[in-house]
Amino acid sequence: MEYVTLNTGAKMPMLGYGVFKIEDSQAGVDAVKLALDAGYRSIDTASIYGNEKAVGQAIKESGIKREDIFLTTKLWNEDMRTKNAENAFAQSLSDLGVDYVDLYLIHWPVKGHYVDAWLALEKIYKSGKAKAIGVSNFEPHHLDDISKVWSVVPALNQYEMHPHLTQKPLLAHCKKYGIIPQSWSPLGGTRPGNQERESLLENPVLVKIAEKYGKSTAQVILRWNIELGIVCIPKSITPSRIKANIDIFNFSLAPSEVAAIDGLNKDTRFGSHPDNFDF
Ligand code: NDP
Repeated sequence: MEYVTLNTGAKMPMLGYGVFKIEDSQAGVDAVKLALDAGYRSIDTASIYGNEKAVGQAIKESGIKREDIFLTTKLWNEDMRTKNAENAFAQSLSDLGVDYVDLYLIHWPVKGHYVDAWLALEKIYKSGKAKAIGVSNFEPHHLDDISKVWSVVPALNQYEMHPHLTQKPLLAHCKKYGIIPQSWSPLGGTRPGNQERESLLENPVLVKIAEKYGKSTAQVILRWNIELGIVCIPKSITPSRIKANIDIFNFSLAPSEVAAIDGLNKDTRFGSHPDNFDF
């Protein structure tokens, strides 16, 4: 595992386990436990995923010390609209069965509400129950907006990033503020049969690099994130993929290979644009 240091001084694993679409059931508990067994020590959930109870149960059953796991959850949009951040955060802690999280994020920049939501997260941070706070899906202009009021700089911005959407201007903007970048849908997201996603994992540039290192294209994409200093949180419920996705710390990419993958950018999204979402 490699680590990044947040602006709080805390260390965060460069690779974590994303749990979007993982069920709040025994199957979900088993998947998270499998990831912890495989060596993941960072979990990315959100209240809207509806699986915080399963994540919490898996952490307990794993026997791994709470302080050895980096746990992230997020404030959902409706709770921003109703100015309910404090209660929503308390509910997340209760569902997770923990007395703190390592990182609490604003999930989406809800127009007219994200600046107030940031101030609410600062209060939560000052309570000590979120060891770090950050944002998700923030574009440069959203970061600039909250920069006018913040007394705490976000530790991290989690946004859509993969070889078809490299987001270089946003990456530079995060770096300008000392905000750690984190990619969501690093492997193209969860839509099976989506041709765009399949073409990403079968891209000849990635296939060639993968063959050179005896790795899969998914592993090459994840390693490319690491080379760029971008924390990633791939999701899988498939035991072999859970293990393979963390097996990326025994090779590195040449700068020319990183540049070749950067060159696959098409500015195409699998998810919604942060300036134009309807949820
Ligand atoms: P990912 O890019 O992680 O892709 C997940 C999909 O890829 C699943 O269908 C999975 O299948 C498949 N997959 C996983 N590993 C491999 C592999 N090695 N080879 C081939 N296919 C593979 O998508 P997500 O959208 O889940 O993004 C990751 C995480 O990011 C989420 O779980 C969530 O935590 C976060 N996220 C945050 C968002 C935000 O707004 N802040 C939005 C979306 C995601 P299978 O499970 O069947 O193995």
